[in-house]
Amino acid sequence: MTRLASVILDIPTQALDSPYTYAVPADCTDIAVGCAVYVPFGRRPAIGFVIELFDGDAAELGLKGVKPIQRVLSTPYFNEDGAACARFLAHRYVAPLSSCIRLFTPPGGVARLRRTEGVWHVDQPAVGQVDDRWVTRGPQFDAFVPRRTAVKQRAILDALAKGEVRVAELSTEYGSVSSALKSLAAKEVIRIEHRRRYRGDATAIAQTDSSAGSECGGSREFTPSAKPDLTPGQADALRVIDDAIGRADGHVVLVDGVTGSGKTEVYLRAIERVLAAGQSACVLVPEISLTPQTVARFRGRFGSIVAVMHSRMSQGERFDQWDFIRSGEARVVVGARSALFTPMHNLGLIVIDEEHEGSYKQDSAPRYVARDVAEWMVKRCGGTLILGSATPSIASLYKAKVCDSWSSISLPQRVNGRELPEIHVVDMAKEFSSGHRLMFSRPLIKALETELNAGHKAVLMLNQRGFARFLLCRDCGYVPTCPSCSTSLTFHERGNMLMCHHCGYRQPAPARCPSCDSPYLRRFGAGTQRVEDELRSLLDGFSGEAANAPIIRMDADTTSKKGAHQNLLESFASAQAAVLLGTQMIAKGLDFGDVTVVGVINADTMLKLPDFRAGERTFDLIEQVAGRAGRAALPGTVIVQTYSASDSAIKAAAAYDREAFLADELSKRKLLNYPPFTRLTNVLVWGKDERAVRMQSQTIERGLRDCFERSGLEAWEVLPATPCVLSRLRTMYRWHVVVKCAPETDISSIIEPFFRARANDPATNVAVDVDAYDLL
Ligand code: ADP
Ligand code: ZN
Ligand code: ZN
Repeated sequence: MTRLASVILDIPTQALDSPYTYAVPADCTDIAVGCAVYVPFGRRPAIGFVIELFDGDAAELGLKGVKPIQRVLSTPYFNEDGAACARFLAHRYVAPLSSCIRLFTPPGGVARLRRTEGVWHVDQPAVGQVDDRWVTRGPQFDAFVPRRTAVKQRAILDALAKGEVRVAELSTEYGSVSSALKSLAAKEVIRIEHRRRYRGDATAIAQTDSSAGSECGGSREFTPSAKPDLTPGQADALRVIDDAIGRADGHVVLVDGVTGSGKTEVYLRAIERVLAAGQSACVLVPEISLTPQTVARFRGRFGSIVAVMHSRMSQGERFDQWDFIRSGEARVVVGARSALFTPMHNLGLIVIDEEHEGSYKQDSAPRYVARDVAEWMVKRCGGTLILGSATPSIASLYKAKVCDSWSSISLPQRVNGRELPEIHVVDMAKEFSSGHRLMFSRPLIKALETELNAGHKAVLMLNQRGFARFLLCRDCGYVPTCPSCSTSLTFHERGNMLMCHHCGYRQPAPARCPSCDSPYLRRFGAGTQRVEDELRSLLDGFSGEAANAPIIRMDADTTSKKGAHQNLLESFASAQAAVLLGTQMIAKGLDFGDVTVVGVINADTMLKLPDFRAGERTFDLIEQVAGRAGRAALPGTVIVQTYSASDSAIKAAAAYDREAFLADELSKRKLLNYPPFTRLTNVLVWGKDERAVRMQSQTIERGLRDCFERSGLEAWEVLPATPCVLSRLRTMYRWHVVVKCAPETDISSIIEPFFRARANDPATNVAVDVDAYDLL
């Protein structure tokens, strides 16, 4: 019997990988699951991660020539749970195991191999912990009298008489102090200690005192923020959650509560419960809602045991937070979806706020759905998953209805008793035909002028999901759709064609509207910059103070710099009357009492995307953005501009009538066999050579069809390989194969063997997207 280790090699090009077995040398005592190791691989060395340790006889296991691990390169990055999760991800999302393991490694990376002049070197990651050297008094401090000429020694002792100092501070002040420190330390007059420094995240510094950046998990006195008495609705919600926590069997609780209904307070109480039981909690928030205000609510209640993880932090900051979590001192982790994979101790609760958000789906391998991974995690650890939203996803609403391990609770009222603002739908086609041709409708212009002059604020949203390329008749709102798929046709500049990305149907783009013969057929899609210009000239024409209202634009361009997002929000908060103009990123989380007008410039861009979730996304977005108005004492107005005033999603959203929306939407989805009535998998093939891409996607289509035929299942469909809606992206041609199967089907087990066995084709790239969100 020997000690053996399963190791996943960290070789990203090795598309589909399986673990390799190595022997653990007897003197290798510091090895554990989760360690990075240095191993021989063929004629070269490699770096890998241990995912399993076991005792066995290599010969009996049929393993010939098992080689020994040469060196352990790190402390463990994950434990058995992490290793199991990585395997789950690799299987479920048909992803390379090495890419799944990578989710668990610390920010800043892992050791790498480098070859110079035929010799291999290990480069340890550049980002790591930073130690500060501190100078404190030693046992001889009081007795020691420095010589008169020892100027630096005297300066150091003077500084120390007031308190502890960092070496860095001394050398900034007095130049090189190392020899003075050395001789003082030798005489035990002082001591030099290494202390771990935590680089604070920007979010922490902005909202707590200035020391927050330097001491995490410290001993600062902490007074938790006041806890309000729960409303009856919150108390009911908490009872359901308590019950779930008590059962410890991975129960899922969906908290369906309007904006301002006190969902966050419910999360805070639930976290309190698991902390009291010695467990820790993880709260996922969409990246764009991870503002200082959000984090402050958690820090305010739980103090320095809160760790924060998001992509706007520097790598050093993220490393420190990761390490803080690994130390076990961080007991509450607030972060974007990847926070799920941080080394939390004794996880008891996962909260996913705004669970309907598309950003919980990762768009590179492994293409996981955070909600489903979280559900797997709490099942494994006997914890609880809370999903919260004002507009829960259809998927979650459906599961809450059909699954025994799901419950749902609703909070239909705002805590402060305020009514939700009234939503007015403006039919832009009517505006246009009655001669008003501006981007802003008359009701919106009127509301802006009145409210800005009253010293109030406005939020205007330009609905812009990446790109929107379809034809729209400015007179009647007609958008050409596919005769067999009931999705809108996309406009392709090349050849002036309209195409259906589902079935491949194509037709030449008409010059006049097929419905009303209007010549005003427009390609849709305006940028925020242009809207800002038009808005400026509109405001300039106003009488009174409204003319001077600043416009604060928030989009991908203006928020790319670190801290920019926060600065823009602060300038909006501090302005008198102002307009915040932005993309979807302003739809949620903003809480400004003096916002009285919310306008949606173009509610339909998303609706017309050839995407079966378009209606759901539009409905969600309108409800979310409406929640920005009238949050405090001032009543709010919401104006939704659209060319599809009679669309069911828009009508239902304006009436806050989710039941009506669902009834309509679910019947459509059932008819067309879309989720939640089916599981969708999208296989994307891309490459520079169009013919190779087409051939490869057709080969995959046939291969997948074989898989399903052999599976003996009945409810499945492999759609013909077609060019994607985005048929060319940068220099790449893109095709895809869409697979549908019954919701309970374990599709991974059916298709995984095919993809693992598939020979690599150097001319094309293939991405498997199980439970795809984006089919474009
Ligand atoms: P949501 O997360 O559903 O949008 P929040 O939890 O942010 O709602 O609550 C909205 C506001 O109401 C917040 O300012 C919060 O502090 C306050 N609040 C929440 N619960 C209560 C309560 N039980 N009593 C008084 N105020 C509350
Ligand atoms: Zn079609
Ligand atoms: Zn028309």
